[in-house]
Amino acid sequence: MSREERRRRIKHLIIFEKPEEGGPIRTFCGICKVPTSQPYDHIENKHLQIEAYECQFCAKRFKSNSSLYKHISRNHNEESKIAKIMDLVSGD
Ligand SMILES: [Zn+2]
Ligand SMILES: [Zn+2]
Repeated sequence: MSREERRRRIKHLIIFEKPEEGGPIRTFCGICKVPTSQPYDHIENKHLQIEAYECQFCAKRFKSNSSLYKHISRNHNEESKIAKIMDLVSGD
């Protein structure tokens, strides 16, 4: 994903608030609702990069390998068993 594409996606997660009395537009993180002057950096660092582990079965993302592992054993027990068997069968 290019940087522009990522910024475009992040933009949807930012809350822009124009004060009624005028003044500069304030920005909030749409995920944790904290005010931030650098919403792009905030969202990218706090909410995107940490979910780096993707479930191979449903593409859900997790913050750590262990929560991904827990998710798979809870939700995809059968599939992961089959995947393991397929690995054994297709391996040399
Ligand atoms: Zn946030
Ligand atoms: Zn999954």
